[in-house]
Amino acid sequence: MPKKRIVLTFPNRLVDQPITYHLIKDHNLMVNILRANVTPKEEGRLVVEVSGKKKDMESGMNYLKEMGVDTQPLTRDVRWHKDRCTQCTACISICPSGAFVVNREDMSVSFKKDKCIACELCIPICPYRAVEVLF
Ligand code: SF4
Ligand code: SF4
Repeated sequence: MPKKRIVLTFPNRLVDQPITYHLIKDHNLMVNILRANVTPKEEGRLVVEVSGKKKDMESGMNYLKEMGVDTQPLTRDVRWHKDRCTQCTACISICPSGAFVVNREDMSVSFKKDKCIACELCIPICPYRAVEVLF
């Protein structure tokens, strides 16, 4: 089933609209909100993972376009440099998506790239520059 991560930016007139609800109900899509930055009466931004059949994806994207929602692929890519990582675990508690995890038995740190939402919170936290954002 096709899946993609996109950044939705919508104008203030749409901030109160149930955009994701319509994607789910009217277009049969599964929508997982990875990050939300919505302020009443201002522009809103959501990072979402959308999955569904190809034709439903197309109709959902058309709906967003008709509504005036800007859609951009999530193009930032986060790379973990295992060789630089000292397993200090500083990134574990800051990571909101569970992309950085620690094995409690041996306290080893690992990075699950598919869970990363490119929020960049771990970048300033890592004392050894073991995490890098690529654009
Ligand atoms: S950028 Fe860092 S903190 Fe944010 S989700 Fe990815 S690994 Fe976690
Ligand atoms: S903060 Fe950096 S050095 Fe520490 S465990 Fe995370 S990636 Fe490794």
